[in-house]
Amino acid sequence: MPELPEVYTITKDLKKYATGHVIKDIWIEPKYHIKSGNNKFIKLVLGKKILDVNRIAKNIILELESNIYIRIHLGMSGRILLRNRNEIKDRWTRCILLLKNTKNSYIELRFIDTRKFGRIEVLNKNNIEKLRNKYGIEPTGRNINYNEIYKKIHKKDTSIKTVLLDQKIIAGLGNIYATDALFLSGIHPNTSAKKLSVSEIEKIILCAGNVLKEAIKNKGSTLKDKAYVNIFGKEGRYQKHFKIYEQRTCPKCSKDTKVLRISGRRSWYCPHCQILK
Ligand SMILES: [Zn+2]
Repeated sequence: MPELPEVYTITKDLKKYATGHVIKDIWIEPKYHIKSGNNKFIKLVLGKKILDVNRIAKNIILELESNIYIRIHLGMSGRILLRNRNEIKDRWTRCILLLKNTKNSYIELRFIDTRKFGRIEVLNKNNIEKLRNKYGIEPTGRNINYNEIYKKIHKKDTSIKTVLLDQKIIAGLGNIYATDALFLSGIHPNTSAKKLSVSEIEKIILCAGNVLKEAIKNKGSTLKDKAYVNIFGKEGRYQKHFKIYEQRTCPKCSKDTKVLRISGRRSWYCPHCQILK
């Protein structure tokens, strides 16, 4: 599933390569439903220029003229690809925006979504603010108020791993980076969130921030399923730097790792370096 580093990479590339383009045509796969309605989407988006591309948590936001926004969420296995106009259509393409730049050359922004867990929709400024308010802090952000996060986490009667995946508390962390962040902070993934101190929570968030920054530097992670690639179809590299995720031995103590299933997701940990309190 694309997490913050993957969405960050896509957003940054789209900002560079799609900003300033005008949406000249729209194709939607027959029977595919755009959340806000296919006709409304076409009516509001067609002919508009892309002014900027930004990110809200794991949502990619294309800002268009007249306070119109396109929100794209990749869901489980969505992709965005920039392709030349005459390139063969990628399998599972749900929507294509034909973009024209100032030099009158065309490219296609293709939204591909195998399992249809992703989402594409048109929003206004008000919707964007509401969307922004749905998400918690980002571990890579500045001026994080750890006492405030502690108060939120302390109320949760669940494991810290589950809390880290809750986008309303901490935005952008998915299974891979939450697993690695807990390993670096030496906290067992099944530790009750209630039992953690402010300084332990601070440590986890700092480690999460470091893991995310390293993953961003490596342009995300591409797993064996090859689900994630950047807008040019290139794989990420963080999978070569996983700390404990998918590792058989612990990189700190060289002992065997273990795997737990928490909230339906596999969670690797080292029973020697991450003792359950
Ligand atoms: Zn270890």
